[in-house]
Amino acid sequence: MKKFDIPIHYKSSVISEIKVKRKLEDPRKQDFSPTELETGKVKLLIARHFGFCYGVENAIEIAYKTLKENPNKRIFLLSEMIHNPFVNEDLNANGISFIMDNYGNQFVNWDEINSNDIVIIPAFGTTLEIENILKEKNIDTKTYNTTCPFVEKVWNRAALIGKENFTIIIHGKAKHEETKATFSHASQNSKALIIKDINEAEILSKIILGELSKNFFYKFFENKFSKDFDVDKDLLKIGVVNQTTMLASETQAIADLLKETMIKKFGEENLKNHFADTRDTLCYATNDNQSSAIALSETEADFAFVIGGYNSSNTTHLVEILEEKFPTYFISDASKMISKDEIKHFDIHKQKEIITKSYLPNKDKITIAITSGASCPDSIVDEVKNLEQRGFKEVTLLGQNVNSYSFEDKDFADLLAASAKAAPSMRIRFTTSHPQDLSDKLLYTIAEHENICNYIHLPVQSGSNRILELMNRTYTIEHYLNLIDKARKIISNVSFSTDIIAGFPTETEEDHQATLNVMKQVRYDGAYMFKYSAREGTKAYQMNDDVSDEIKTRRLNEIIDLQQKISWEINQNLIGSEELILIESLSKKSDDFYSGRTDSNKICIVPKNDNYKIGDYVKVKINRATSATLFGDPI
Ligand code: SF4
Repeated sequence: MKKFDIPIHYKSSVISEIKVKRKLEDPRKQDFSPTELETGKVKLLIARHFGFCYGVENAIEIAYKTLKENPNKRIFLLSEMIHNPFVNEDLNANGISFIMDNYGNQFVNWDEINSNDIVIIPAFGTTLEIENILKEKNIDTKTYNTTCPFVEKVWNRAALIGKENFTIIIHGKAKHEETKATFSHASQNSKALIIKDINEAEILSKIILGELSKNFFYKFFENKFSKDFDVDKDLLKIGVVNQTTMLASETQAIADLLKETMIKKFGEENLKNHFADTRDTLCYATNDNQSSAIALSETEADFAFVIGGYNSSNTTHLVEILEEKFPTYFISDASKMISKDEIKHFDIHKQKEIITKSYLPNKDKITIAITSGASCPDSIVDEVKNLEQRGFKEVTLLGQNVNSYSFEDKDFADLLAASAKAAPSMRIRFTTSHPQDLSDKLLYTIAEHENICNYIHLPVQSGSNRILELMNRTYTIEHYLNLIDKARKIISNVSFSTDIIAGFPTETEEDHQATLNVMKQVRYDGAYMFKYSAREGTKAYQMNDDVSDEIKTRRLNEIIDLQQKISWEINQNLIGSEELILIESLSKKSDDFYSGRTDSNKICIVPKNDNYKIGDYVKVKINRATSATLFGDPI
């Protein structure tokens, strides 16, 4: 099958390796049993076939090519490219705008679109009516059309039987874009009718057999049949096609039922004049995904994760197959696994997200079945797999001037945002920042992502511009204070820590007072405070270390006293507040207590208790505080 050029961030090295290995072992896909991955306490059963299909990779390749080839044009997508929020947000972030939502509500009026614009047709195609609107505007609908060839195959099959005067019965969801597109194309050559499921097929059968009235048909199937549909004439010859992503077993049952109905009405000998022998029009990806899910459902997994967009028909059917056998959690990405005790997942029956507690069974070893829909990138499956498997709770991006990071066209804010997205259930910290590189973009990135800690370590070193220049720090104290102000405006409840050096060569009493003033203005939550000592290789090493040790010590003590006073005042204000802490270890002073850390990097001591352990996040109420430590009780 053709290979597509899709962005690397949709891929996963682990999942790709599994897929390649299975393909080599079983190129004709005879074996749908899952791949087993065993690590520590978790056994993962990974479906034989899942993730991006031909049509989706084709659509993504075309969308990125369109962006590359048309840097100066406005690029629109008719609606969602595929049913995956992650992919759609990504395209949106890259400058592609959506003309309408999935229900046809327009964000952009047709009047605002002109022949200079590019409009991409999504993978599930579009209606002839919309194609005509675009043509009237002289917009090229061919070059950047991502309609999946398997969707077009359904249109072609419908056209073929339509030309022989058969009415096309479309098994699909009337509100789904793919069904709307198929209905529009099918109605061009013949009459068409949409039925949702086997229950509606039974009603249609009764209408054909005269057991239910014509009037009932027009009411029951309102808005689902083509113009001038005449029940007396248009149900004498029928053929069934399906939206490519329906449940295979149901499609078969519908075709069998309607065939039986026509035999009953017209006799077996006349069947071919009344029932078109339409072969199944499900696409290969839907078939393979469903066969793999059926094989997963035959295992002894404790529960299943199905990953994908909630309005993806293809993914919903995987949930239907698996939930027959074991608890099945339909999640869009790893962030839905709130903790090991809580998961937010989509209930396909209630059509909304719900929270389930204690979803992980209390066993020494758990077995999890995993699959995903045709529009779900492998990288998202990988995130779910990794987080569950490895149980990491916090990650720190570390470097001396970590925010000066840049790689190709990406800066540190991009790296931080990507990390926050890739591990949404983990806390992300970074240290150390250089004031020169603390950009607005970085501040907004911290503010936008709940899992990036609202804590910035921003070394000031000295409050004197003269000393900063000697230190080669490349910023002024005015610039530094400005940054602090800006960060406080952008990030609510942001806290700061810093590094301060006492007694740098030539430091005067006035310089020292400037440092104390900066500390009073900023009111750091914490500080790392040192006496100056010459370090080889630094610019200052050549300078005369002319501040006596006695003066350095006195200045350092004044700095420490002031910081302790400020920290104590800040911490006293936290008494009575609620904090989420990550339990890191036993308390250094007593095995009866745990030591945890708040979002703002403060140590918090809590009593040991059977309800939580090292590695857990615990919500606590602060009841006591010193300048260095908070004490709390779980709530
Ligand atoms: S699920 Fe099937 S029809 Fe839909 S885009 Fe993928 S290959 Fe095409």
